[in-house]
This record gives sequence, structure tokens and C-alpha cells, in this order.
Amino acid sequence: MSLELVQTPVVSAAASHFSFDDFDNCVMSTYGRFAIALERGTGCRVWDTEGREYLDFVAGIATCTLGHAHPALVETVTRQIQKLHHVSNLYYIPEQGELAQWLTKHSCADHAFFCNSGAEANEGAIKLARKYAHTVLNIDDPVVITANASFHGRTLATITATGQPKYQKNFNPLVPGFHYVPYNDIAALEATIAQLNNSERRVAAILLEPLQGEGGVRPGTIDYFQAVRQICDREGILLILDEVQVGVGRTGKLWGYENLGIEPDIFTLAKGLAGGVPIGAMLCKDFCNVFQPGDHASTFGGNPLVCAAALCVCQTLEQENLLANAQERGEQLRAGLERIAQKYPHLITEVRGWGLISGLVLKPEVDLTSVEIVKAAMVEGLLLVPAGPKVIRFLPPLVVTAAEVDQALQVVEQALASVVSGTNDLQKS
Ligand SMILES: *Cc1c(COP(=O)(O)O)cnc(C)c1O
Repeated sequence: MSLELVQTPVVSAAASHFSFDDFDNCVMSTYGRFAIALERGTGCRVWDTEGREYLDFVAGIATCTLGHAHPALVETVTRQIQKLHHVSNLYYIPEQGELAQWLTKHSCADHAFFCNSGAEANEGAIKLARKYAHTVLNIDDPVVITANASFHGRTLATITATGQPKYQKNFNPLVPGFHYVPYNDIAALEATIAQLNNSERRVAAILLEPLQGEGGVRPGTIDYFQAVRQICDREGILLILDEVQVGVGRTGKLWGYENLGIEPDIFTLAKGLAGGVPIGAMLCKDFCNVFQPGDHASTFGGNPLVCAAALCVCQTLEQENLLANAQERGEQLRAGLERIAQKYPHLITEVRGWGLISGLVLKPEVDLTSVEIVKAAMVEGLLLVPAGPKVIRFLPPLVVTAAEVDQALQVVEQALASVVSGTNDLQKS
């Protein structure tokens, strides 16, 4: 088969015609967008339609694991779309089987289901837990416990699972069967389970993020998660981990749960799994593998194109030793952010994170929001993303170099200095 890779043109035809107004007139305004349009990238760098270069420490929100236009991913996707890109789960899909084999071989799970997004993966996990509750545990009214400040997606069940009222407002009636507890608080969890189990309802599952990403880059504590695991074992409750943001090497370990010394019964993946090609996955251990033909499905889920892309990402993680890079560059980044925090003790309370997911935390009492810093950094050529009003999140591709981390740190210093002195032009964005 011939393989001709088309080189990205430096200035695309689309770029010269791009208009923010035309876009806003026809695309629903579900996002508060920054006023730049990105049109090409390579590695950790992207360029906007005006030709300005940015260091990308967002990576499509923890998604572009291998950065932009990684040769292995470009080649894999090109070859696969030339060969076969979509059939249906009516038939066996070899690439899907290979990906499931890789994931189960490298994790605590035994089985995988493929879908297209994080929310959809979590929906699958909630359905699997409910079916397990009904058919194995004989629970008629199963409850799934989730955490305050969590984020699990934007479908009706997953906004209900999400312990943040701002995502639920105006969308009620919500889905029944969820209950919330404070994160990293084992006494509160024990009390909630006792209270629910004394009522008509019973707890079927606990759904948690190993590290809360959207909720402010809040790592789970080892003590908490080990106690949660013990409670689940004692009470016959399923432990579901939402690894949508931190799975697939983001934390410097392949799975977020490896930072906590426990294994989940079910876990979900999406963002980083195929490096930006849309995919979701829900994995489980053998004992709770209760789905039967007809129980769950997805038209696009696990098609040859996305599975080939995900397999390429997984294999490239191994070949390019990207877990070690995520650990080392993450430590370098946090050490640099700590130095900056010490220079601005009146603005910054804390630097936290694992591997290449880090948060710079602003003091709650200071009149400064994360989005102001993010905009100032963007003007200086660095893309960052808020995680709530007071946390600036750093999510570079796992291929980021030491020099790029140093460059990002310099820009963060400049951005802070400009915001503090009020000299930057925020109106631009
Ligand atoms: C992004 C995210 C989701 C939702 O993923 P989508 O692909 O946007 O549906 C769910 N859980 C976590 C932890 C996430 O970070």
C-alpha cells in the first residue's frame, strides 16, 4: 500500500478566511472561548491563524499525549484510514481486540468496553455497577456515591454524578441514585454508607477520581484511597475510578491508581488514550463483568481507526519511555513553580500535582483569578487552562522537553509580573 503523508501547509486556506463573528453566529456558545484560532501544531507547539506561536501546556486538556503531529500517530492513522476505518461491532475488529489486550495486560482489569468520550465511559461504568447491584447483590434501589468537586462529564447521569451544582443548574430533573461525600474524608464516607444502608437504599458503588482534575488538581491521598478500598471490600461495594483525565501516563505512572497503592474494580479512560483521536473506554475486573449481548453498545465505539490510534499511543509511551519523562519533567515543572510561588507568597498558596498534571493555586482572598493569569500567559505565548477560579493547570504533552518546561516557567513568571503590575493588555483576549 502506498502511503503519502500530506505535509501541513504553513498557512492554510481556511486560516485566511477565518472570522470569529462567523463562527459565533452559527456555533452554539457553550464555551467561553479565548480569542485565538489554532490551525497547526508540532510536538508541544501550536500556531494560530495569525501565525503566532504558542507553547501548548494544555494539550487539548490532557488529551494530546504525544503532542501534535507525532510521526507515529500520523502514520498509524493515515495507514488505518487507507485500509479500513469503520465497520460496526456487528463484526470482530482486530484492532479493538489488540487494544483491549494491551490495556488488560498492563492494568488490573480483565475486560474492556470501547466508546467515544469520558462521559460515555462513565455512563457505561454506572450502568455496569447498577446491573451488578441488581443481578448479583440483589439491591433494588442502588446508590452510587461520588465526591464533592468531582467532574464526570456532561450527560444527564454524569452531571448528576458530578459533585458541582454549577454543572447541574437548570438541567433538573437529575438522574436518581447518586449521593455525595467530601473528597479525601474517610469519616464522612463511613457515616454516609452507614446512613444509606440503614435506609431503604443501599450503596452499590463509589465513583472517584484518583486526582480531581477539573475540581482543582486535587490529588487523592493514599490513606483515604486505601481506606476506601477496605470499606468496599468489607461492604461488597464496587470501587469505580474515573481515570479519564489522569490515566494513560499523565501522572508519570500508567494509571492514576498506581499513585495510591490500590486497584479499582472498574475504571474509565478517554482523554489521553488515543492522543486526541476521540475514544473512551470502560474496563473491569472479571468478577463484575456482567454485561451480556444487548446490554450496552456504541456505534462508533472501538472502531478500527481509533483503536489503531490508541494502540499507537500506548506503544509509543513504552518505546519513548514517556512515563519516566512525565515524572522527570513534572518534577522539574513543580520545582520551578515552587520557586515562583516563593517569589509571590502573597498571591500563591500551593503547587500540587502528579507527573504532568500540576496546579498553581492562588490565594482565595486575593483579587486575582486563574483565567487572568491564563490570558496573560497566552499573550506571552504559553497556553494554560484554569481548573476552577483559583487554580492554573499545567498539562503539557508527555513528550515535553526540559527546555520547553524552562521556557514555560519563564512565561509564567512574566505573566504573573505583568498581571501584578497591571501592564498587560487583557482586552486583547
Ligand atoms: C474530561 C473528563 C470527563 C468527561 O470527558 P468527555 O470526553 O468530555 O465526556 C470525565 N471525567 C473526568 C475526570 C474528566 O476530566
